[in-house]
Order: sequence, then structure tokens, then C-alpha cells
Amino acid sequence: MSEDMDDIKKNELKNRLTSLQWHVTQEKGTERPFTGCYNKFYEKGTYTCIVCDQELFSSETKYDSGCGWPAFNEVLDQGKIKLTKDTSNDMVRTEVTCSKCGGHLGHVFNDGPKPTRKRFCINSASIAFHEADKEKTSDR
Ligand SMILES: [Zn+2]
Repeated sequence: MSEDMDDIKKNELKNRLTSLQWHVTQEKGTERPFTGCYNKFYEKGTYTCIVCDQELFSSETKYDSGCGWPAFNEVLDQGKIKLTKDTSNDMVRTEVTCSKCGGHLGHVFNDGPKPTRKRFCINSASIAFHEADKEKTSDR
């Protein structure tokens, strides 16, 4: 029974996501470097999981790592992600997945800037940007 439900959910998701978003989050794919829509994007706001809408990263911790993917110094909350050792492609890396839906987000490396030294290397295809509330726009 639950398998049928999973299939329905999967089909819904597949229809909602682009093929790249599907490939990255569900098949642990990687978008080509410097192609992601958030690679050079520094508006103020919050990034959520493209699959389940969980808030993951803040623009305040986003920085230009030069690696070709959006990079974050820190996650909003450690409980929002899951870290798994990934030994694919003859490398030892730490995979970052969404704690809620299990979608693949990217990898985390320890060569980032202070204070955390972390570089969350996240696919643009895995996240959605939500602009910060403009509370001060009505005082004209
Ligand atoms: Zn998610």
C-alpha cells in the first residue's frame, strides 16, 4: 500500500521539478559548475529545499567560493541537514542531504572561511530562494 503512495508522490514530484532538479535531488546529481541560478546571487533572504520547502540556508552565510556552485559558510540549523560519508567517484566527501525529505543538496568541505571553516557546496537546483520580508517598504 505504502509503495503505491510513494509512487504517487514520486510522480507528483517529478512533474513539479525540472529534470535537472529531479536529477540532482533524487539521483544525487551535480549541476554543471557556474551554471546554477544562485551561483552569483546575493540577494537577502532564505534558501529552502526545492523538494519539501524546509528552510536550509540564509543569504547571510552565502559567499563566493569561486568553485562554481552556491557556497554557504553555515546551515540555518544543523538539524535541517543530514551528513553522510560519500566515497563515490574515488573521493571521500561528505554528502549533504535535507533532513526532512532526504533530497540531495550537495557536499560540505572543510576549506571554507572563518568562523566555521565550512564550505557547503550546494546545487542551485536543490534550493529555492525566498526574498527577505521588506518590512520597511511601507513607510513612504
Ligand atoms: Zn527537503
